[in-house]
Amino acid sequence: MNIILIGAQGSGKGTQAQRLAASLGIRHVASGDLFRKAIDEGTELGQKAKTYIDQGKLVPDNLTVSMVLGRISEPDCASGVLLDGFPRTIVQAQALDEGLGRAGQRIDCVLYLEVPRNVLLKRLSGRYICKANQHVYNINTRPPKVPGICDLDGSELYQRSDDRGEAVQKRLDIFFNETVHLFDYYANQGKLAAVNGNQGIEEVAGSLLKAINDCREDV
Ligand SMILES: [Zn+2]
Repeated sequence: MNIILIGAQGSGKGTQAQRLAASLGIRHVASGDLFRKAIDEGTELGQKAKTYIDQGKLVPDNLTVSMVLGRISEPDCASGVLLDGFPRTIVQAQALDEGLGRAGQRIDCVLYLEVPRNVLLKRLSGRYICKANQHVYNINTRPPKVPGICDLDGSELYQRSDDRGEAVQKRLDIFFNETVHLFDYYANQGKLAAVNGNQGIEEVAGSLLKAINDCREDV
């Protein structure tokens, strides 16, 4: 089973994607993680991607598509994937459909985690991540016990370059102006379901599972 989870930064998408993939027994493939790994390893693709991410811009389609399709073709993704952060554009969605089609696969269900922009801004502007294990904190809603230090491993907290001020606004603009076109694309295929992401973590997880079951019954 192949699922796409769409949500703006700060929508809780990463957290929900991990839980959902675990409960469905499929692999969580986050394009952001693929980029960060490529950047850490200093690959040519990673260095190219970094210049875009640092400016709060989207990485070009050809870089993204080849990285994601490569990952999906690996053996541990054979029973299905939950795509997180990809596709973001119609061009990417079409390339994904073509790539999956060549492998005799397809997207089964597309979930949109819906959160109002003002809520996203509040969540994002306070987000900090620990250097050792990427534990997530929020100075507004979930502060660490000691300022600037991770409760769990004592490592230093930092803000990702794409979580800071203007970059956040830019990314939300891009999301609301461009990603929205994907909804038409997948609604026309009868695969789109919207889920209220402005609830507690447990409630959102339950709503997502229900939407997937509804989607299975439709097939
Ligand atoms: Zn930590």
